[in-house]
Amino acid sequence: MRKDNEYVRLTREEDICLKLAERYSTLLCPIHKNDILVFEWKTQRSQRYWAKICRISGIFKALIKSLDVDAKFIIQIPTSSWEQLTDIQRQWVLFHELMHINFDPEKQKYKLIQHNIQDFRVILNKIGLDGYKSNTLTSMLDKDPISFQAI
Ligand SMILES: [Zn+2]
Repeated sequence: MRKDNEYVRLTREEDICLKLAERYSTLLCPIHKNDILVFEWKTQRSQRYWAKICRISGIFKALIKSLDVDAKFIIQIPTSSWEQLTDIQRQWVLFHELMHINFDPEKQKYKLIQHNIQDFRVILNKIGLDGYKSNTLTSMLDKDPISFQAI
């Protein structure tokens, strides 16, 4: 693989996703270990997004073949983005990505949903537009759960 296209699995971030889904189960879909894989994309070029959740297709199919897991989605994180964020800011970014997941209990199927404004309203209400870079964010995992406004 070219240096610019290397992917490294971030199991620590996968654990954070599991904890977030458990803690904020009123907002997030239930997920199990290996449902969501997180990969750092070691790219030299800086990207305009912090992280991106997507279906497992193309390069990712090949990438996870050897892992032998039945993953549903991948969160892709460009190196340049993760380097700029603190642990707490990363939690919020991962939380945002998990908000994209929708589970249909009737069909027993997961799908991705879009936010039609720049972010999910429930997050916007809490931290403002692009608040992920704020230094005043509170940890989503260490203390009491964040209380989100019902929408
Ligand atoms: Zn988004």
